[in-house]
Amino acid sequence: MMAPIKKKIIVVGGSLGGLSAAICLRDLGFSVSVFERSSNKLFGKGAGIALNPYMLRFLQRYPSFEFSERSLSAEQLRYLDLSPSKDREHPAVFKLSSYNSLYISLLQIFGTENYHLSCEVTGISQTPDKVAVTTSEGRTHECDLLICADGTESSSRILLSGRDNSRYSGYYAWRGIVKDDHLPPYLVKRCEEAVTYHLRSDGHLLSYAIPFFETDEKGETVRSTYINWLWYRNLPSTKELNSLLVDQSGNRKSKSVSKHKVRPQLIEALKQDADGVPEHFRQLIKCTSAPFIQAVFDHGVDRMVYGRVCLVGDAAFSVRPHTAVGTTKAFEDAIQLYYALKEYGNDIESALRSWEQKQLKLGRQVLERSKEVGESLQRGCWSSDFLPPFGLYKGGDSCIWDESTESSDAV
Ligand SMILES: Cc1cc2nc3c(=O)[nH]c(=O)nc-3n(C[C@H](O)[C@H](O)[C@H](O)COP(=O)(O)OP(=O)(O)OC[C@H]3O[C@@H](n4cnc5c(N)ncnc54)[C@H](O)[C@@H]3O)c2cc1C
Repeated sequence: MMAPIKKKIIVVGGSLGGLSAAICLRDLGFSVSVFERSSNKLFGKGAGIALNPYMLRFLQRYPSFEFSERSLSAEQLRYLDLSPSKDREHPAVFKLSSYNSLYISLLQIFGTENYHLSCEVTGISQTPDKVAVTTSEGRTHECDLLICADGTESSSRILLSGRDNSRYSGYYAWRGIVKDDHLPPYLVKRCEEAVTYHLRSDGHLLSYAIPFFETDEKGETVRSTYINWLWYRNLPSTKELNSLLVDQSGNRKSKSVSKHKVRPQLIEALKQDADGVPEHFRQLIKCTSAPFIQAVFDHGVDRMVYGRVCLVGDAAFSVRPHTAVGTTKAFEDAIQLYYALKEYGNDIESALRSWEQKQLKLGRQVLERSKEVGESLQRGCWSSDFLPPFGLYKGGDSCIWDESTESSDAV
């Protein structure tokens, strides 16, 4: 007897949200292909990502995900003041990773056979039974379900909904990573011990240590420790934001200017401004060769499902980074999609409708909480008595590590 033909899924976007969905749904028996616009794998990119028990529940199903190799632990929360006698410390355990480390793990799990680079989706159309996607090369591919994981600037979302409702939050972040051997050993130790904040009336700074994977001169993958830092600064004027987002070649970027593209005079001004922050952050900033800029935007959708097409991760809701769950939320969208499709079997549209109700609720909750926390942190209203606001379903569900979640039932 011939094996039944597997239903086909195309995932638009091969970053963390797209790969987690692709892995989950392949496990459920679908034939899954990932279309990624970038011509190169996303190895060398990104900075720090806080792990969340919900994300770990998913990753620990795969033996190739080596938890201890892919993350670092910090066992304290530290608030630094300009006057060191007012510094505060609280015991709190965090598991910290990096974009690069998670991306490598997910790509290893999914494999590269059905991961297509230089494959930009430019058109979507559908009949009641099938979805057709067109790529920039002019080719058309059919599938039974299309998952759009194409990020905060999702062109799929705009194609489907006809609008983009992103709103600038009124602040942006300078970000950087610096390798441990570029820093004094005592500072590396302090960065490894604690997630460190400095609260100001006009913003806040944050640092923590992350694992990072690089290829050495022999072509072997080696793990290093980098320190990840962020400086969130208020900038209400969109005119000033627009000028900040002009890169070295004079191009106006929409939301971020990546490493090595930021104009040198802006980096010089940043390093001068660093004279006004505690020494811990001053040293991190001054030792970073290629800081980058990311403006903070909010956006959320009213619909995540259009027939047999759905939006996941940042394409649906892009939340402010202070809750540290952008990636976890993308994983949760994927895991819940797995459950819905498992429950409804071949009835993809009913599965999507049921999934959408839950994920819209989650997305709205996280978006609202991330806005509240962001306003509090940026307006000098956050207290050094508070634990950080990391959390998916509720504030704090990522920072106090509950060992039992590591072995709880996964997908
Ligand atoms: C290179 C990179 C580095 C990042 N680094 C960090 C980090 O250090 N810390 C952090 O907290 N978050 C980081 N993020 C964001 C983080 O990945 C997301 O917030 C979260 O994981 C949800 O991801 P996502 O997959 O929904 O969206 P994203 O991660 O934004 O991925 C969207 C993907 O879709 C692709 N794409 C877009 N349009 C198309 C199209 N038309 N056709 C095909 N592909 C398309 C993009 O190239 C991208 O790879 C990074 C994202 C990227 C892409």
